[in-house]
Amino acid sequence: MRLVLTGSGASRGMALGRARLEHPSRYLVDERPLPEDEIDAEIERLKRAIEIAREELSLLREKLHGTMAREVAEFIDAHSLMLADRELTSGIFDLIRRGRYRASAALKMQRDRLVAVFEAMDDPYLRSRKEDVEHVIARVQAGLQRESSTEERKLASRVGEILVSDTVAPSELVPLAELGVLGVVLSSGSRVSHGAILARSLHLPMIVAAHDALGAIRDDDLILIDGESGVVIVHPASTDLARYRNWQRESLQRSKQLALLADRDTRTRDGVAIALHANAESTADIAQARASGAAGIGLYRTEFLFLQRRELPDEEEQYQVYREVVLGMGGLPVTIRTLDLGADKADSSGLVLDDEENPALGVRGVRLSLRHPQLMRTQLRAILRASAYGPVRVLVPMICAAEEMLEMRRLLRECARDLRTEGYEIPDNVELGAMIEVPAAAIALPNMIRELDFIAIGTNDLVQYTLAVDRNNDHLANLYDPLHPAVLKLLAQTIATAHRAGKRVSLCGEMAGDRRHTALLLALGLTDFSMHPGVLLEVRETIGAIDREQLRKHAAALLRAPTRERIERALTRMHAAGATVAITATESTS
Ligand code: PEP
Ligand code: MG
Repeated sequence: MRLVLTGSGASRGMALGRARLEHPSRYLVDERPLPEDEIDAEIERLKRAIEIAREELSLLREKLHGTMAREVAEFIDAHSLMLADRELTSGIFDLIRRGRYRASAALKMQRDRLVAVFEAMDDPYLRSRKEDVEHVIARVQAGLQRESSTEERKLASRVGEILVSDTVAPSELVPLAELGVLGVVLSSGSRVSHGAILARSLHLPMIVAAHDALGAIRDDDLILIDGESGVVIVHPASTDLARYRNWQRESLQRSKQLALLADRDTRTRDGVAIALHANAESTADIAQARASGAAGIGLYRTEFLFLQRRELPDEEEQYQVYREVVLGMGGLPVTIRTLDLGADKADSSGLVLDDEENPALGVRGVRLSLRHPQLMRTQLRAILRASAYGPVRVLVPMICAAEEMLEMRRLLRECARDLRTEGYEIPDNVELGAMIEVPAAAIALPNMIRELDFIAIGTNDLVQYTLAVDRNNDHLANLYDPLHPAVLKLLAQTIATAHRAGKRVSLCGEMAGDRRHTALLLALGLTDFSMHPGVLLEVRETIGAIDREQLRKHAAALLRAPTRERIERALTRMHAAGATVAITATESTS
């Protein structure tokens, strides 16, 4: 029966496909004792589920291709080996036979036992491997829930699949996209999480915070997802399918219309030139940035290179990647951000990080870099070598204090000097900038601006740290508000301080690519944006319909507004005065 579930759109686009429940941590476990005469049947069920899990892993392995294939294959092989491990499986069969547990309860029990063993290990790397056990057992649990035949499953694996899960690590998304997954539905998560940002970069429609998804969707159900409205339709009706076809037609038309703007300058209606840079983390992003006529790369996230692998990338590997980006941009500036691992991005990175109670406030970004200077030297050397092929800037995340910048500059100079001694041609003045994403840095910017060549405002984190609201916590989504007066004040101050000091300032958080906020940012004086290249053309279009002079007159009233409601009102007045395209703050533009 048709069922509509609501969540929040995190990466737009629609997708129609078969649901694929993955890593579900909340599968129902049947705890009732097993009657003796059902033991053999239960053992058979479990064997079948293990077989399904094995089959799936081998199908998955067959489909691997592309850059991550080798690393992902290693994981798959490790998981297949675990499934063949008698110690793992015989323990579960024993629990069914002797303990009279049902298969799902036995799996859960074995998982808890093994996880406890891994957690007690001293070696942090081995300790982190408990995740492999969890993934393998979750896969068998999923197999237990499936009632379709092998043939049907093979068929389902050929038609498009939509992942339905509670969470997904950013590192898991790339292989999923490579495997042709059409979209993602998560029962938790938020649209500013790194997973969501990456999904947009991979053009994977994504719904987050669809709280009922795991309970209501079954494997192989046909589902239609709409990343714009955040809706998931289970067993869509013919009217839904018609709407989907309509959307396909319209989005094709819309992209043709926007493509006409690709080689235009970005100017406001009253003629002010605005720079639109692209955020990137993959080669596809670079191609799209070029195709959209981006002014350069305003944020190249390098974490992607470090995720889902057991060893750190060496200088040569990093150099090749950065050089490709620089060459790909054909002489336009490329801003490469140094490693921003920690917090929610540090999964299986080859870097052994201590567990932290509160990683968002822990060893993250520049803090991690300065604790591992060798890691940083390797990255800075690779960036500097790539800078011989085109204009490169280095951007440092999570800056709190001038001392951190001074230390990074010392490292950068030291690397440049060493490279020159080794015979490399390194340009003289590779610019070093700071991300302003911690309120301390925004507040103390006048004190440290001398140390910065340029500034990039990271609103994703600035909002989280200013409002003390975890950007990944869907239960706090209503409090994660980029329009909070404190955030607006910090933005206005940061832009003004940078302009007064004659330093370039751009904004590269998700706000920059959200056209609901374009007029507001222009009113606050921003002239340099960096956003996902997929939204660059529509922001260019929005800017072309705005009279900046008119907007600027409303900035003071906006900054004085005491409540969210008054801010909305000031925005509506501002839009009426300065924007020919009416954009309301409630319009959805994920
Ligand atoms: C930000 O915080 O706004 C930002 C661009 O960095 P990230 O999303 O990678 O933390
Ligand atoms: Mg950030």
